[in-house]
Amino acid sequence: MWITLRPEADPGEVRAALQGLGLWTQPLRGAQRGQVGFWVQPHSKAVAHEFILAVPGVAEVHAAPSEHPKVDAQAGRPVWVGDVAVGAGRPVLMAGPCSVESEAQIHEAARRVAQAGVRVLRGGVFKPRTSPYGFVGVGEVGLAWMREAADAHGLKVVTEVMSEAHVEAVAQRAELLQVGARNMQNFALLKAVGQAGRPVLLKRGMAAYVEDWLLAGEHLLAAGAPGVIFCERGVRNFDGSTRNLLDLGAVALLKHVHRQPVLVDPSHSAGRRDLIGPLSRAALAAGADGVIVEAHPDPSQARTDGPQALSWDELAALLET
Ligand code: PEP
Ligand code: MN
Repeated sequence: MWITLRPEADPGEVRAALQGLGLWTQPLRGAQRGQVGFWVQPHSKAVAHEFILAVPGVAEVHAAPSEHPKVDAQAGRPVWVGDVAVGAGRPVLMAGPCSVESEAQIHEAARRVAQAGVRVLRGGVFKPRTSPYGFVGVGEVGLAWMREAADAHGLKVVTEVMSEAHVEAVAQRAELLQVGARNMQNFALLKAVGQAGRPVLLKRGMAAYVEDWLLAGEHLLAAGAPGVIFCERGVRNFDGSTRNLLDLGAVALLKHVHRQPVLVDPSHSAGRRDLIGPLSRAALAAGADGVIVEAHPDPSQARTDGPQALSWDELAALLET
């Protein structure tokens, strides 16, 4: 971005005012004849153009057009999941099992989740599995079970949609459609999900640049999604002590620079239940609007992701903190 000055402006005074806004500047070189101004360094604080234009002596603000204007346009605005606002200041907790396993299990989960004070029930009926021999979910029938369980306890539903063929069925039963990490750049799916007209929880791909993630959000918004919540769930790491590396720098960047609604999934980041509490607190400190966690009626019997599932007591304690 660069800023040009009015002919009568005092460059020193303007520069001091710009620095006061958090902008780090360098005198503009190679400017057109007669132009005086500053380059704004890329890692300056994000400041809306109207605030820069209000500085006495500033003539114009120039910036290369953004590649994700629709994402930029939702900056600072909450995304509504039914009557639950994500990004309005109050932290949101979404919780439930990794997989919907039976009608009884999801009803029990909904009851306990609601009892803990959670407003949004999570659970997958279509499971993306690394091995083709793993449990791939109960399928479409689970959507009806989840909806009934949620309604019985006044909860909203978030669930993953894995294929274009299931978008309509999922959109009929869930307030929030989840696009999983493995599908973050499945552009045909993003288009179909965006066209469903529901807000979307967009997981970050496990090796995705932040810019790729923002552009995936742009695909959803361009297709018609009313809002996108970005969900950091950890990226590939070289260590292996935790399942994924929770990138809190990306969370801070999305919240404080791009001003986007952002959730953290500490369950898939850590892969172990004992770190969910500290990582959740760290997520909120970094600027996250809330967390989405896995919990199960009997974690030792969970068909997927048992080691990272909280018990109900642990979930209640998490909400407390
Ligand atoms: C999930 O939330 O159940 C899931 C599979 O997450 P991710 O796409 O982040 O791996
Ligand atoms: Mn899981």
